Amino acid sequence: MSFQLAYPDITEERRGNTGTPGVWHFDAGVAGPAVMISALMHGNELCGAWALKALLAAGVRPRRGSLTLVFANLAAFDRFDPTRHDASRFVEEDMNRVWSTDRLADGSTLERARGAELQPWVARADWLLDLHSMHEPGVPLCLTGMLPRNIELARRMATPRHVIVDAGHRDGTRLRDYGQFGDAQGDARALLIECGFHGDPASVDVAHDQVARFLLAAGSVDPADVPAGWIQAPLGEQRVLQVTDAIVAPSMQVRFAEPWQGMETFASAGSVIGWADEQPILTPYDDCTLVMPSLRQLKPGVTVVRLARDYPG
Ligand SMILES: [Zn+2]
Repeated sequence: MSFQLAYPDITEERRGNTGTPGVWHFDAGVAGPAVMISALMHGNELCGAWALKALLAAGVRPRRGSLTLVFANLAAFDRFDPTRHDASRFVEEDMNRVWSTDRLADGSTLERARGAELQPWVARADWLLDLHSMHEPGVPLCLTGMLPRNIELARRMATPRHVIVDAGHRDGTRLRDYGQFGDAQGDARALLIECGFHGDPASVDVAHDQVARFLLAAGSVDPADVPAGWIQAPLGEQRVLQVTDAIVAPSMQVRFAEPWQGMETFASAGSVIGWADEQPILTPYDDCTLVMPSLRQLKPGVTVVRLARDYPG
């Protein structure tokens, strides 16, 4: 699929209203949730920027609590080129792997320094919606992490159809798992939404739907505050899948048996889904589903596909 989504002009939006570039904050002056919605954690994931731009243009304000809008990796976004869109995912390192106290403190990369700049805003949030898109064409996914309260929230949102319960990445902590969001004893909520292929205009519709449903779920706004047409009808009954395995590339010698799109389910254990260093990659159990297969960012240590089974309940 070619890259069809336009590059948004965020000249005004990137100024913010807080003194921190790319950060907007609105306070209702009434008790309620501190909601953060973040976009451009990856510079080539434009749907979230479009959604926040539209939210600002519509003048949506919290009725209860506060609302913080973040355009995260502006430096990577500025390097965006639709013919090489993967190249603007980040500048020096993946900004969704820097969320730990020591990495933010050392400031050794542009992304760590930017993360540190955003950290005070992150610290005060207790609801986080992090808007992303995907390297490859695929159905939208909600990534909940492992905490039951976020799985419950994903089910309450009712869209997208596919919900993935996953433990994150071994090469660094995502914003959605950082601090209060990863605290098993706490009550902060966090969802990461993969809205579809980076270049698909429909990814913006998914982002709109998710922003609207999240603000309503948090109780920040009333239904009448949501811009017309943002909420989409569910495409079917939700399917919640728990990631059990991440297939990590041992080398550059990884290939798939077919151009998987994600959400393929293999009835029998031992099905060959590809090869790594000429050894077959096999499904380890019956009814195993592929999640976000991609060889685009292939290098040793990168996750090329996740395996998942149906989550109970
Ligand atoms: Zn992303």
